[in-house]
Amino acid sequence: MLPSAIIKKVLSHIDPDELIALTADLVRINSVWDPAAGTSEQAVAEKVARWAQSQGFVVQIDQVAPNRSNIIISGPTGSEKRTLMFEAHTDVVTPGDVSAWRYDPFGAEIVGRRMYGRGTNDTKGNLAAMLIAMKALKTAAVELSGSVVGGALCDEEDQMLGVTDFIKRGHADKITAAVICEPQDGMICTSQKGAVRASYRITGRMSHGAMPLSGLNCAPAIARLIDGLHQLEKKAATTVGCDTHLGWPSFTPTVIQAPSAGAPQLNVMPGEAEVLVDIRTTPAQSHQKITTELKTLAQNVTQKVRESYKQYDDLLDLQRRQDLAVRVDILTDRPCTLTDAAEPIVKAAAWAIQTISRKTPVFGGVPGATDGTFLWSMKNIPIVTMGAGNRRIPHQIDEWVDLDQLIETAGVYALTALQYLRAG
Ligand SMILES: [Zn+2]
Repeated sequence: MLPSAIIKKVLSHIDPDELIALTADLVRINSVWDPAAGTSEQAVAEKVARWAQSQGFVVQIDQVAPNRSNIIISGPTGSEKRTLMFEAHTDVVTPGDVSAWRYDPFGAEIVGRRMYGRGTNDTKGNLAAMLIAMKALKTAAVELSGSVVGGALCDEEDQMLGVTDFIKRGHADKITAAVICEPQDGMICTSQKGAVRASYRITGRMSHGAMPLSGLNCAPAIARLIDGLHQLEKKAATTVGCDTHLGWPSFTPTVIQAPSAGAPQLNVMPGEAEVLVDIRTTPAQSHQKITTELKTLAQNVTQKVRESYKQYDDLLDLQRRQDLAVRVDILTDRPCTLTDAAEPIVKAAAWAIQTISRKTPVFGGVPGATDGTFLWSMKNIPIVTMGAGNRRIPHQIDEWVDLDQLIETAGVYALTALQYLRAG
């Protein structure tokens, strides 16, 4: 048990006004990665670096790509036994149609106990909370048995170049656990869905819409593919079932395009089509098996469509070249993550939430991938994902965060570190 005097001491160094002001400063910097518009994470990364330096932290700035930097902050240090990382991303997604917003997306306007703006929820509020938590641990000068590292990383919303660079440079080598600071509404998320994304390319033969028998239509293959994907989803649902925290596995055709390029025309039967599928997995599934199933589906569809065209040609006494083909390419393969509930970081987070909120911690899972996916899968680092903000709000218009939940989160982060790195 940590002495309550130490807990109080650390929490007394969390200044809610400072947290709110820092969140607002970060939100007011547009950090959408949009080279055409001239915006990137750079200005917000520099802001984080300046703030951390002004608090006396040692800061490293790593350039990941032009105008895209990671900020690595060395927090309080103890013996080398454990190193806890706080991770938050500096990029935000586009506000979309700004006229649809009731509030300025980069205004950080406060109404009641909510702050509105792009990134308030995902995840600049939580970035500010982790910085304030690190400051509280430093200022309180409590003895820790390990070290704290803060990572404000770029490009989480797209290719995750920031975390990949962080790992490549060896920063993750000493990390023994990480808190991924993302909006999970105060829950402790110990698992994340995985993703397999694939592209099916169907090659038939183009022809005039009035003379379809002189070509080979891709449409029957598309229909069979969509049905086949649904059958795979049904099989996954019945074999692995519904994950307690992550829900059902899914195989979703998201883009169906014929022709696959160029303008579609009603009287032209396209010779090429593309079907994109977004598969989200739970830890009980094997990605290798899914990849094999996707390839088998391509072969089966090719065979079935050719057979069906052959039968039709026999009926009509035609001799068409039966060379319709279906090919599949795997575009993304991101594993699920699953941190054991017995891991010290999970226990520390649960204790911190209980201590701050006096409520039983709620456990959950993250529906999408985060930077934590890479820390977990490439470096075997146990991760928990937690932070302030309603989980349905990210990427929407009028994004907001509840300020009281944010203040509570800074306390939860600080106590999680205190417990995970407690001396003795
Ligand atoms: Zn995020």
